[in-house]
Amino acid sequence: MTSSLKHILSDFFTEAHPKLRPVESATAGIFLSGACQGPKDIPETVAQASAAAAKAIGLLCKNSITCNPCVAHSNELMCNGCSSCEKVCPYGAITYADKEFRMPDRTTAIRRVASVNPAVCQGCGACTVACPSGAMDLNGFSNSQIMAEVDAICK
Ligand code: SF4
Ligand code: SF4
Repeated sequence: MTSSLKHILSDFFTEAHPKLRPVESATAGIFLSGACQGPKDIPETVAQASAAAAKAIGLLCKNSITCNPCVAHSNELMCNGCSSCEKVCPYGAITYADKEFRMPDRTTAIRRVASVNPAVCQGCGACTVACPSGAMDLNGFSNSQIMAEVDAICK
């Protein structure tokens, strides 16, 4: 394979699963169809677009949507805004916000802290591993809970 062909192929989007989720992207609520995934003929593109539209309608016709409860959250007091978590998040769920904190000497300081969008987070846990200050935790699988499990197993 030539390097230019490799470059072209790497610019296509990848489906979440080729057999089980062929029109879904890795990010919930974003669907794929047509030539964005690679060269396709018209009948295949139309079939795929119909499937993507059906998936989107399936989401829009609900009054409420149940989300995964095991999402990440950051401890703003421990976060130093280093961006390590944002770099590893494959879903783009982490953003930053400047927040005002009261300091021990009663002054206030503005600090940049990480914030997780729970609707986008898929609970993969990559950010919790990457966080150097232990500020990022996964609901139900916090660092202290995991260490307690390890301690119990090792007894
Ligand atoms: S758990 Fe995964 S998807 Fe959620 S914010 Fe962390 S890296 Fe992103
Ligand atoms: S990796 Fe940890 S300390 Fe760094 S921005 Fe993310 S939550 Fe904050």
